[in-house]
Parts: sequence; structure tokens; C-alpha cells
Amino acid sequence: MPDDGPDRAADFGEERLIARLDDEARGELTAIRSALRRLEIGTFGVCTRCGGPIALGRLRALPWAPTCVDCAG
Ligand SMILES: [Zn+2]
Repeated sequence: MPDDGPDRAADFGEERLIARLDDEARGELTAIRSALRRLEIGTFGVCTRCGGPIALGRLRALPWAPTCVDCAG
């Protein structure tokens, strides 16, 4: 395996990069993409489970959080 540090990440296509991530990182990336989609359709900050608002403090700590604190717990 050649040494490919972060500075070489741009050489990879996104899908190949994702394939190299572990499950945790992949799950986080999926959550981020989902959050971006919700931002596009105007439901960002709305809990995907109960439909209530996600607290600003939670979004600051975890901007891609799909659910409010109540639903996450
Ligand atoms: Zn909720």
C-alpha cells in the first residue's frame, strides 16, 4: 500500500474515498449528506422522528443530528 496521507485524498474519487472509510465514518458521512438534503428542502433543524425542532445547542454540537435530544436518547 502506498502512503496516501490527507493531502492525497483529493486524488481519489468520492466513492473510492468512502469505500476506504470505516463504518463509523461512513455513517457520519451519510448523516451529513442527509442533513444537507434536509437543508435543501427546508427541514433542517427539524427532528426526523417527532417533527419537533432540534435545539440550537444540539445543532451547534452536532450539526448533522437528525433527531432532537429526546428522540436521540
Ligand atoms: Zn424528536
